[in-house]
Amino acid sequence: MRIVDCHVHVGKLDDASSLLRMMDANGVQRMLILSESERISAGKTLENMRALQKFASADRARLGMLAWINPTIPGAARLAERALTEMGYSGLKIIPDHWYAYEPRLEPFWEKMDALKASILFHTGTLYGFEDGSRFCHPEYLEKLVQYPNIRFAMAHVSWPWCEECLAVMGRMKAAVHYQKVGWQSYIDLTPGTPPHIRKQAIANALSFCGGADHIMWGTDSTTGGNLNYQKEILEGDRKIFAELGVDAAQQERMFSGTADEVFPARV
Ligand SMILES: [Zn+2]
Repeated sequence: MRIVDCHVHVGKLDDASSLLRMMDANGVQRMLILSESERISAGKTLENMRALQKFASADRARLGMLAWINPTIPGAARLAERALTEMGYSGLKIIPDHWYAYEPRLEPFWEKMDALKASILFHTGTLYGFEDGSRFCHPEYLEKLVQYPNIRFAMAHVSWPWCEECLAVMGRMKAAVHYQKVGWQSYIDLTPGTPPHIRKQAIANALSFCGGADHIMWGTDSTTGGNLNYQKEILEGDRKIFAELGVDAAQQERMFSGTADEVFPARV
């Protein structure tokens, strides 16, 4: 079964061939790696994007890239455009960092992302870091994007602890399909987040509410530069959960790789 980890952070970017070997050992074919986070500087954002681009050039089919963008940085839209149209990035990673997605000042950015048909992985849910930043990361604020129907977006961590709110946004975005001429633009990223005591129920609820696996993708929040043991641990745990829930092979493959490959395709 093809496995794609849709959510991997940058630790060290020194040895792509050893990373590829560790992916082989875990049975993971492709990862989407997020460029290093930068909250303030456009110059540093571009530098981070270039560093990941250089690293991922070792195998562009297997080492996918998401550009870490803070939309409130002046020039952010142009940076995102360069990532998507010139640098081989498959999409963007955004954390609502002390701003709300519905703020009017962000409308020009969303407009540009709509024109680019951008795919965006949003941090949603409690945020371990960024000072007191969690409250900006409620999935409900992403309802704003219904005004930009060409943007596809995934909500990371099933928005834990707001998993129900995450499903509500999924339902709201699905309902929009009936009056807009585009597809269902929202997705769930299963990356933990969800602690063990709730994970199985959260996955079962997501599958049930979304009517199957088509809008669900799998990821781990692993980090490059380490040993990827954490990725293996999550993979084994989730395989077990999928089996216990009776998820068939086709639905498992959709979550493990099909959805991420479709929303964040390789740009070689
Ligand atoms: Zn993460």
